[in-house]
Amino acid sequence: MKTDKTKIVVAGGGHGGLAAAALLARKGFDVTVFEAQAEEAMGYDWCDCIRMSCFDRTGLERPNDEWLTPMKAISYYNPRKSVCIRTGTQDSSVSFVIERKLLLRHLIALARGSGAKLCFSRRVLSAVTQGDRVVGVLTETGEVRADIVIDAAGMDSPVRRSLPAGCGIQREIDASDTLFTYRALFEDTGTASDMPAYSAYFCHLGVEGFDWVIRETDHVDVLIGAFGGLSEEMIRNAVDDFKRDHPYIGDQILRGGSCSRIPVRRTLPKFVCDGYAAIGDSAAMIEPLSGSGMTLSIRSAGFLADAIEQAQDCSTASLWSYESAYFRSNLSLILRQQTLKDVMHCLGARNIDTLFEKQMVTVKDFTSGKQTSSDLLHKVTGAVSAPSMLPVFAEMLLRSRKQKKLLRTLPQDYSYAHVLRWIDDYDRF
Ligand SMILES: Cc1cc2nc3c(=O)[nH]c(=O)nc-3n(C[C@H](O)[C@H](O)[C@H](O)COP(=O)(O)OP(=O)(O)OC[C@H]3O[C@@H](n4cnc5c(N)ncnc54)[C@H](O)[C@@H]3O)c2cc1C
Repeated sequence: MKTDKTKIVVAGGGHGGLAAAALLARKGFDVTVFEAQAEEAMGYDWCDCIRMSCFDRTGLERPNDEWLTPMKAISYYNPRKSVCIRTGTQDSSVSFVIERKLLLRHLIALARGSGAKLCFSRRVLSAVTQGDRVVGVLTETGEVRADIVIDAAGMDSPVRRSLPAGCGIQREIDASDTLFTYRALFEDTGTASDMPAYSAYFCHLGVEGFDWVIRETDHVDVLIGAFGGLSEEMIRNAVDDFKRDHPYIGDQILRGGSCSRIPVRRTLPKFVCDGYAAIGDSAAMIEPLSGSGMTLSIRSAGFLADAIEQAQDCSTASLWSYESAYFRSNLSLILRQQTLKDVMHCLGARNIDTLFEKQMVTVKDFTSGKQTSSDLLHKVTGAVSAPSMLPVFAEMLLRSRKQKKLLRTLPQDYSYAHVLRWIDDYDRF
């Protein structure tokens, strides 16, 4: 596409939006980012984990080495905490922990340094459309026209929500596909304890979801996550229970102490239409079990920038190559995690206990390690001694076949009928 004549507006200056803005500006496009927050307020007040491959593969510079801390080994607990599965120390060349505010500062510098115009404290209210084509955005201060709108405004994006039905893009993300989280960094009282430094809990206190307690040098990071909803009482009960098991968790909250939401579902089946492409949480580009989305959103910016550069025009057909490259690269990971999430949902806490206690899950299930025949034997003997698990294993087998078919049939080029058929299969996964 002609770079000097194509105007691109990015709604939302988070990880995906800024990475896309930087890459497209480097290719010579006229890029403007509208971000609702003030520049100083950008980024959560805590650290999170990111894989450096997303920088290397897109050609974006990595953040400073001094900002990166290697990931700790994780100890996974079943709901009644009778079994602890410990991963080895994570490969420190792959995943790092970084302060969110520093990561955002780095991405802002990359986008600005590449020539993108960044407009902070400027909220986008909706898409501007002509028929089923997106032709711009409505911001607080008026309408801005663009050839392509990149929707990077997160899971509640007003751009996605305002798209006409004819665009074929899902507008809402269900509460059941949302992880409601509470996160706080507590003071560390210094009490000695032999609990692991990083403890992760499935269905803690029987609540469907995922929690963690991470003991850092100067604080204790506590996350409470529940699918579908989280009340103050649930937060209080979970924190009190953790204080009993981890006696070093103090009463004072040093940072955070806020609630947020993560879309934990497989990526939306369609996230491009005429003049529009979504990226990051706005398209649910997330690992459905862990809720990690930073790596995927930055990596996807590379696919999007390449697709726009090579596109003939701003049509769905041209932008489809972005969607197809994204799925080709991530479909297996996403569907594997979606299957595990669904399995957790239909098993419930009691059966997850059985999975752990009968060694039907092992460290390799958490690290994507290669399963040996002895691992499989454990699963089969465990399943035979707990027949209620057999339908679950049958479903997992079926899903793995569906996953292979979806990857095989993913349309490389856009054809309305072919894409519609694929979306239908994907929706029924
Ligand atoms: C507690 C918690 C822990 C997490 N841990 C991890 C982790 O360890 N690793 C990981 O990879 N991911 C993690 N995630 C998920 C991760 O935060 C997201 O997947 C990631 O931020 C997605 O990037 P994004 O660019 O799509 O969205 P965001 O980074 O959320 O950016 C969206 C941007 O759009 C802006 N915006 C919103 N609405 C508007 C509007 N109307 N107009 C203009 N701008 C708007 C927002 O202010 C924001 O800056 C975690 C999330 C939470 C809540």
